[in-house]
Amino acid sequence: MRPFEYRLASSRSDAVRLGAAPQPAASFLAGGTTLVDLMKLDVMRPGLLIDVNGLADELGAISAGSDGLRLGALARMADTAEHPDIVRDYPVIAQSLQLAASAQLRNMASLGGNVLQRTHCLYFRDVSWACNKRNPGSGCSALGGIARNLAILGTSDHCIANYPGDFAVALAALDARVELENPAGRRKIAFADLHRLPGDAPHVETTLRPGEMIVGFEIPAAAWTRRSLYLKIRDRQSYEFALASAAVALDLDGDIVREARIGLGGVAAKPWRSTEAEAVLRGAALTEDAARSAAEAAFATARAQGDRAFKLDLGRQTLARALMQARAMEI
Ligand code: SF4
Repeated sequence: MRPFEYRLASSRSDAVRLGAAPQPAASFLAGGTTLVDLMKLDVMRPGLLIDVNGLADELGAISAGSDGLRLGALARMADTAEHPDIVRDYPVIAQSLQLAASAQLRNMASLGGNVLQRTHCLYFRDVSWACNKRNPGSGCSALGGIARNLAILGTSDHCIANYPGDFAVALAALDARVELENPAGRRKIAFADLHRLPGDAPHVETTLRPGEMIVGFEIPAAAWTRRSLYLKIRDRQSYEFALASAAVALDLDGDIVREARIGLGGVAAKPWRSTEAEAVLRGAALTEDAARSAAEAAFATARAQGDRAFKLDLGRQTLARALMQARAMEI
């Protein structure tokens, strides 16, 4: 591992001031479950780690009220997944966290760090290979290489990496907002605007400004959050990334869909919201045919080639099954 400087942030303003300094390049340290791994692999090379764990009292809170759910960025995955209000009223959030990583990692990892986890494209994680995301302009070894786990939605000719997380897919589905802080103040943006598609600059993954820190998430209360679930399909049933996943939330009147919210994971370059599938379902009876039609719409723009071609059918079936399971929920 390369040498780096370590600072313990004494306050939020201290953290973002340190983070915004042009040199050395800084990273915030919370659980460290992605960052330290990637530093050991020499993939991430921060010159300064700003430890924000001392801010857990103000940035680790979880609160649920009549207007929605607020999650501090330093809340731990395990605590959030087991919170009784979240299990009851936002099951898709609880399940997306419960099905991620391992128990040890869930105890350590923060929500803020979780949404910023990096792709598990094997060429990104091995510095001996060309990778536009790690080394801009060097090429993409996954094109023509081993790409079974990578994306079929939102890719570009410069990068076909998938976004690997689960929790972010649930946030995308539920119209979440993310609270940010930088030296100039605070702002809130739609969670859907946090991650960027790769385009011709896959190394720029988010819209965060220099030194900007995630301080929390807001999930608005809505009629569809209780009838929600996260379905994750993977090669093994524990400690594995999704090959395909679906976060679905439904507001039903009998079998008629008043509103639907749909996120997709494991198949896309960023946490994916399918407004196309939602539009197919809105006002329709939720039959198996309707679920399949929604799934067709969700993947209409997919580019599924080579060893990841199977993800097209897998992704459609995952979404269709998730919708039927959500319909059958007793709430
Ligand atoms: Fe790098 Fe993206 Fe290509 Fe993987 S798919 S090698 S992350 S540029």
